[in-house]
Amino acid sequence: MALMSPRFKTSSKLISASNGAVIQKGARGRHVHLIQMALIDLGYLMPRSTGGVFSPDGIYGDETKQKVIEFQSANHLTADGKIGRNTMAALDRICRNYKHRVTLHFRSISLTTVPFSDALQSAENVYGQYGIKIEFGSGESLMLTNEQEQQFNRVDESCRWEINDGEVNQLHSLGGRFPSNHIGVYYVRRFGDSSLLGCGGHATNRPACTVAASASRWDTAHEIGHVLLTSSFSPVHVNNHQRNLMYPYSRNSSQIPVLTDRQIAQMRRSVCCVSI
Ligand SMILES: [Zn+2]
Repeated sequence: MALMSPRFKTSSKLISASNGAVIQKGARGRHVHLIQMALIDLGYLMPRSTGGVFSPDGIYGDETKQKVIEFQSANHLTADGKIGRNTMAALDRICRNYKHRVTLHFRSISLTTVPFSDALQSAENVYGQYGIKIEFGSGESLMLTNEQEQQFNRVDESCRWEINDGEVNQLHSLGGRFPSNHIGVYYVRRFGDSSLLGCGGHATNRPACTVAASASRWDTAHEIGHVLLTSSFSPVHVNNHQRNLMYPYSRNSSQIPVLTDRQIAQMRRSVCCVSI
């Protein structure tokens, strides 16, 4: 059975569960994390499985089993605490719709820099896991003059949260305007500091981020993460868990990064994360 919910459809293990491969106590991994997060969002809180660096922890222990039993009882399913075909189908049906939307406007200094579609698809996969729809607002080349193109080919500016002047600020003011609760994603060829692959800093009330053309597939989603978390969230980066989207170093792994329940709660409070 194909899964329809954006929360589950990228997990091969959950697809297998929908086909009868049972997930039960003892299992661990992203698929368990996604089930836990969905149950938490449905009101089945899990204090023992949350609060750590990978939160919910992705460990199918007694607490998760108990919450699955409660979910099954409430939905007239066999209350065995295991996720098989019927429980997976019920979760998929209940979690089918997105709850929030983030709209992106891609801007590139030339047509040839980065395929928007890859960055968009990767961001959709990351945020879709948590019921947040990443929507394509617009995509355009900034059609710069030769002189401007020279200037913005390499952005010689350090990354900071509020960027109300300078080169990045100029770049973010180019191209068609969009609503102030949408996010602009500006691609440059590179930063002067070649170790920098992106920056979530932007002008007050103009949410935007800047991404280098050589950035990896998850870096656009990471910079969008900074914009959604805002500077009021701490820690900004998760240094001790490579699977977290906010791990500060670029990853090329095909494994979809995860976020913690605390990060997701903060992101949902962003003006750019609109309830639907
Ligand atoms: Zn970062």
